[in-house]
Amino acid sequence: MTLPLRIAVVGAGPAGIYAADILTSKDPESRVDIFDRMPTPYGLIRYGVAPDHPRIKQIIVALHRVLENERIRFIGNVHIGVDLKVDELRQFYDAVIFATGAERDRSLQIPGEDLSRSHGAAEFVSFYDSHPDREQTWDLTETRSVAVIGVGNVGLDVARMLARTADELLYTDIPPHVYEVLANSAVTDVHMFARRGPAQAKFTPVELRELDHSPNVQVLVAPEGMEFDAESQGSLSRSKSLRMVVDLLSEWAMRDPETGPQRRIHIHFLERPTEIRGENGAVVGLRTERQELVGDGTVRGTGEFSDWDVQAVYRAVGYRSEAIEDLPFDTRRLVLPNDGGRVLDLDGNPLPGLYATGWVKRGPVGLIGHTKSDAAETVANLLVDAPDLPRAPQRDPAAIDALLASKSLTVTDFAGWDRLDAHEIAAGRPHSRARVKVSSRAEMTEVASASR
Ligand SMILES: Cc1cc2nc3c(=O)[nH]c(=O)nc-3n(C[C@H](O)[C@H](O)[C@H](O)COP(=O)(O)OP(=O)(O)OC[C@H]3O[C@@H](n4cnc5c(N)ncnc54)[C@H](O)[C@@H]3O)c2cc1C
Repeated sequence: MTLPLRIAVVGAGPAGIYAADILTSKDPESRVDIFDRMPTPYGLIRYGVAPDHPRIKQIIVALHRVLENERIRFIGNVHIGVDLKVDELRQFYDAVIFATGAERDRSLQIPGEDLSRSHGAAEFVSFYDSHPDREQTWDLTETRSVAVIGVGNVGLDVARMLARTADELLYTDIPPHVYEVLANSAVTDVHMFARRGPAQAKFTPVELRELDHSPNVQVLVAPEGMEFDAESQGSLSRSKSLRMVVDLLSEWAMRDPETGPQRRIHIHFLERPTEIRGENGAVVGLRTERQELVGDGTVRGTGEFSDWDVQAVYRAVGYRSEAIEDLPFDTRRLVLPNDGGRVLDLDGNPLPGLYATGWVKRGPVGLIGHTKSDAAETVANLLVDAPDLPRAPQRDPAAIDALLASKSLTVTDFAGWDRLDAHEIAAGRPHSRARVKVSSRAEMTEVASASR
């Protein structure tokens, strides 16, 4: 008789939770423990999605339902590879699915990136989403004009969060220290720069339109960048969503600046940042080179440079995954090397019992919904392999708990998350807000373990 599967999922973001859900419904005998290095579940839904996207954050309601399944356990505040090695984990589980996501900024690789007030988007996102391990202070008092490099949805979030007034964000879950920083912001102009043309932008129509929703912000598009080559025309004829994006951008390119709104977002296409300029170690400008489309959607430099008077630069050119100790890592694609979710060694051979899903599997692109199909593929392959997977020697769920206790780790569980969740919701109630986030790890674990 084959023993029922015991699986560890590393990462309680959407990819990990969907994997646990699919696994336990396809194989009702299986048991899954989901580990996360944060005391809380939900990954970038909690620490990436912008505070003014409460509708997206509601996805946690469905994910919460998954975690209520008694065959799935949440084990928080355990950093795999640091607190617990992968080899240790494998003593307790027949297979491990890595769903560790992507949390850091990719580099832009231009001079000046290390200047003060040159920020990665992930740093700013972690600040306004109050990630307990990242910056708790931020200074916008000396930045009147800022550059945001990159025209994807993360760039839109950063531009929107810089442009909206603090009072407009008061209904969200931002804690008081984030509100204070935004309330004292000197920002009046946000310039977004794209190397390629409007038909190559990675915006989605809903997120782009949202930029223009605030009465305090006017969105303007520099008309000289609204160029299209043969490939752009082809892309436009194939994609309705792209046509919606380009129609909106074209409408904004015809606008005249208004005096009413306090802040402006300017979108510049076909401008490639070449240097972040500094004085006394801090950003004082951005140099860009004008680009032209060459016909196939790619661009080449024209040799015409512009200097932009900005006091801060936000680089939104993509997130990157980090290597996990004792596991192979594809340093070019910045993912766990894998084939359909089966983790491979650096020679391309499968490593039995190790799987990947979500952003660490396919790179940091795609919305939350995409992590579901990802998880379905990985779990299907795991279940094909399952009959041949050697069973882990230690099968009693209490055994892993005992090991964690012996390491003196302050582990959080699902009931603890419910306590913290209730605490945050209660903190928001007197101010008619959905919640106010706790942003210190010590306080989070204290509240989570309160009545144990
Ligand atoms: C700024 C930003 C805004 C976004 N906004 C939207 C949006 O509005 N709508 C939308 O649909 N999508 C949005 N996305 C995309 C969405 O967040 C991703 O598609 C999704 O979160 C990827 O899921 P994941 O589970 O692979 O990774 P993640 O959500 O990153 O989850 C990974 C989890 O693994 C944990 N972890 C990492 N390493 C370890 C380790 N060694 N040990 C233990 N745990 C570990 C992390 O703590 C984290 O909880 C946004 C992304 C970003 C970056």
